Amino acid sequence: MDYIFPPAPQVVLPVVGSAALFPVRRVYCVGQNYAAHVAEMGGDARQPPFFFSKPTDALVAGGGDVHYPPMTSDLQHEVELVVALGKGGSDIALDEAPGCIFGYAVGFDLTRRDLQTLAKEKKQPWEMGKGLDEGGPISAIVPLAAGELGADAAIWLKVNGQLRQSGKLSHMIWNVSEIIANLSRYVRLAPGDLIFTGTPSGVSTVLPGDTLEGGVDGVGELAIRLLAAPRPRSA
Ligand code: MN
Repeated sequence: MDYIFPPAPQVVLPVVGSAALFPVRRVYCVGQNYAAHVAEMGGDARQPPFFFSKPTDALVAGGGDVHYPPMTSDLQHEVELVVALGKGGSDIALDEAPGCIFGYAVGFDLTRRDLQTLAKEKKQPWEMGKGLDEGGPISAIVPLAAGELGADAAIWLKVNGQLRQSGKLSHMIWNVSEIIANLSRYVRLAPGDLIFTGTPSGVSTVLPGDTLEGGVDGVGELAIRLLAAPRPRSA
């Protein structure tokens, strides 16, 4: 195959306990999936789940240094359980959803909250609030079957050592199987898809120089440092 220019590399994530890499296809996110976070965003927890996407190449495997993004003065953190799919399909039944799960990771859904809020007000897409470069730091994937993740596992995030977000997976409004089944009614899911499953309350503004650490019990931890340095101009 001859290309006009080299194609972008396949985005991959390491898998704990395996030499093989997880090739990422798409990155979906669930909005407002913890009641206390819905309340702090001014939403209504009785609504069905809703979804948006992040660019696959926004993932930052393993965390580490992340450039503070342009066009915002209100970058916020959202720590999330990420589900990695090993199987997909359309109209996946609720009882078939657990069989689609390959494993889990910890992810940060970094958000330009000011752009997102403006988009909401204007009834415009959230894309530029959520689809920022390096906006999806993520840990290695832990292969776990659906039942092997504690339903009451803690999910937490610290900024510069201070606890900002602290919740439990049992506080999710829509559980992982419900998310997979519901999302598969809108789009065909496939192996390699990731789903960020929403964040507990406590989201807050972060600044260049801040260090963020987060985790989900039984899945792992993730840490990033926000760099004030200008972004590279070319890829
Ligand atoms: Mn989120």
